[in-house]
Amino acid sequence: MERIHNFNAGPAVLPEEVLREAQADFFNYKGMGLSVMEMSHRSKEYQAIIDATHASVKRIYNLGDDYEVLFLQGGASMQFLMVPMSFALEGKEANYINTGQWSKKAISEAKKIGKTVHVAASSEDRNFCYIPKSWNLSDNPSYLHITNNNTIFGTEWKTDPTVPANVPLIADMSSNFMSKPIDVQKYSMIYAGAQKNVGPSGVVVVIIKKDLLERVNPNIPTMLDYNIHAKNGSMYNTPPTFGIYMIGLVLNWIENFGGLKMVQTNNEVKAGYIYDAIDASEGFYKGTVDKDDRSLMNITFRLPSEELEALFIGEAKKEGMIGLKGHRDVGGCRASTYNSLPLPAAHALAEFMRNFKKQHG
Ligand SMILES: *Cc1c(COP(=O)(O)O)cnc(C)c1O
Repeated sequence: MERIHNFNAGPAVLPEEVLREAQADFFNYKGMGLSVMEMSHRSKEYQAIIDATHASVKRIYNLGDDYEVLFLQGGASMQFLMVPMSFALEGKEANYINTGQWSKKAISEAKKIGKTVHVAASSEDRNFCYIPKSWNLSDNPSYLHITNNNTIFGTEWKTDPTVPANVPLIADMSSNFMSKPIDVQKYSMIYAGAQKNVGPSGVVVVIIKKDLLERVNPNIPTMLDYNIHAKNGSMYNTPPTFGIYMIGLVLNWIENFGGLKMVQTNNEVKAGYIYDAIDASEGFYKGTVDKDDRSLMNITFRLPSEELEALFIGEAKKEGMIGLKGHRDVGGCRASTYNSLPLPAAHALAEFMRNFKKQHG
């Protein structure tokens, strides 16, 4: 059976090799006579799986002993709450850069629990079609939170921002986690829902500096306390065992691919095919964001009319390409080209775009 070209924004495509490996081990994991889902999370076999996944995160981002890696639940959306609960200090301001829907949700959670929020920069004035190049921190920032890739609007931070040493930089990297090398030392915390780039939904990967962990308010409810999860190796309670196992397989795939540099090169080629199709279309396809801030992961564009957009999406589906409808809040089209999207899929879409323009342009 053929695999479809899957441009879904998340949950998203996974590497074929990973799916086959999981399938081969599904019924009888390494001769143990049971599946990973049926194992005790306290067994030595499961401990080996979570340890290996943990070690892969550290190797891929080259993290030292000053960072802790956690596998939590509740998605990136739970981090919108846990971050201000843990790190927004009394008498200081939680700083945010607002680059779209997900940033707004993060800001709204901080406000909801009564924290003082300062929006240090925003791109809302032009409907989030760019990444702010400067920002004004408040006088006493607890931290600065950014959204590195804006899944819905299709913008991405191309450089890791520099902030004063006493201001922890906290990043929602859900949709570009492990898609390229980053200057990891700049971040005090990175979090990412796995379902975009590194696995199935149900797990959020959190990378957190130990000196930030020391600041967590000790009166936080147990399940929301990063230190509880850190002390218990992400096994205070039953972790999402199968999801963590799948992340482990995807991370092995990334390392076998040649690591983040190779992944980035591949992502640039894939996104390049599609952006080139947009740019060579004489305005038939219109990219919706400033060129310098274009995302390598989520490519957003419009056609001359909503009717043509609907037709485009329908015709693409007939050609075995799905997931091209833009987010319901912004409309238009969006192609998500995460790490695992095979190169031929991006190529096929670019080809389809050129043909569609010939017929309807
Ligand atoms: C998908 C996404 C989220 C939400 O993730 P959940 O796991 O569904 O909570 C948050 N931030 C960004 C940037 C995303 O792309």
